[in-house]
Amino acid sequence: MVWEMKVAESEEKMLAASLVAEIHEKHFGGDPRVFLAPGRVNLIGEHTDYAGGFVMPAAIDFGTFASISARSDGRVEIWSENFAEGVTYAADELPKARKEHWSDYPLGVLWALREAGIEVPPFSMVLDGNVPLGAGLSSSASVEVAAALALLSLAGAKMERSAIAKLCQRAENEYVGASCGIMDQFIACHGAEDHSLLLDCRSLEFRLAPIPRHVSLVIANTMVKHSIAGGEYGIRRAEVEEGTAILRQHRPEIGLLRDATPEDLERWSGEMPENVMRRCRHIITENLRTVAAADALAAGKLKKLGDLMAAAHVSYRDDFEASCEEADIMVEAAQGLPGLIGARLTGGGFGGCTVNLVEGAVAAQFMEQLREEYRAATGMAAEIYCCRASAGAHEVEIGG
Ligand code: ADP
Ligand code: MG
Repeated sequence: MVWEMKVAESEEKMLAASLVAEIHEKHFGGDPRVFLAPGRVNLIGEHTDYAGGFVMPAAIDFGTFASISARSDGRVEIWSENFAEGVTYAADELPKARKEHWSDYPLGVLWALREAGIEVPPFSMVLDGNVPLGAGLSSSASVEVAAALALLSLAGAKMERSAIAKLCQRAENEYVGASCGIMDQFIACHGAEDHSLLLDCRSLEFRLAPIPRHVSLVIANTMVKHSIAGGEYGIRRAEVEEGTAILRQHRPEIGLLRDATPEDLERWSGEMPENVMRRCRHIITENLRTVAAADALAAGKLKKLGDLMAAAHVSYRDDFEASCEEADIMVEAAQGLPGLIGARLTGGGFGGCTVNLVEGAVAAQFMEQLREEYRAATGMAAEIYCCRASAGAHEVEIGG
């Protein structure tokens, strides 16, 4: 990675984008356009997306650039600066299936565009990002959405932001083969500076809630990702399906678990295995917490928001059983520190990052102390980032 700085300031952003353009020119020549899509952190609403429920992410000032220029030799070539590696194909002989390689992500987007009837001319592309890979901050969606904007621009095609999000989700589901919900791609498209976004994952209606300027978004990477994560994700989804099917037998209008109430669950939980009941209880209560959290944020009730985040962590840990020892240590350490508003494990679970809302005036101290406490308890050096809620994907103009 050649650019270490974050992209909060537009001057910094332009500088970072022009460095990407330089890399592009070095590899391919051409006169590239440069697009940027952010990573994200989910403040609350975990594993609710595929249940048709609510999530409340914010786009962050870590992201991925995709530069693009046309080629005249009928080939497609993509270079990842992060992997220091490129792939190249004849434009009419692109791989039809995934290769379990980073290039699956941009090629998946290209595939999904073609499926949508959009032909992209042969091109060169550079990908360069500073979202930590595989840490639960959605580097994958940032790559997809940045690539989608770049490819659409070259094709001269316009697409609504929500449609771009769905197209990128399709690329990740069907081409890359990862069963993610819509949240990551949606927030990468619709993020707004200094706001989080409450998304109804079924209707795709959303509303923004302002994050006060005195509040910092501190993201603490536990530096672990337990190998069970992938498999357990699938198991959780199956358990949620099983519980939903049981509730649906009694109330056919329950299409997705988001339609079920705590009363429904209480009434029919005796018909479910204990673990299935607890998975459903997490999702049903998490939906309520997430909407309440958006209301609390909009009303400036930060104490209430913090309490909801704490309850969400407990539910994720005990009912959904998707936390891990390291994440629990990180959350508990944060809860003992001055300036904390709310902390919880964010992302798909079993490691990755915690999200902390912290009083900005003491954020630097908070980060230092959190790092120390985590090291004392685990022996590991956590990476801790102070982020700002940022805009969704866009082109970055590079001046002369
Ligand atoms: P997360 O989205 O939480 O970061 P994923 O496993 O979903 O984790 O996605 C990470 C993968 O996305 C990487 O292993 C890589 O294949 C791809 N990726 C992310 N950033 C880049 C990049 N800058 N260049 C190429 N591939 C990338
Ligand atoms: Mg991902």
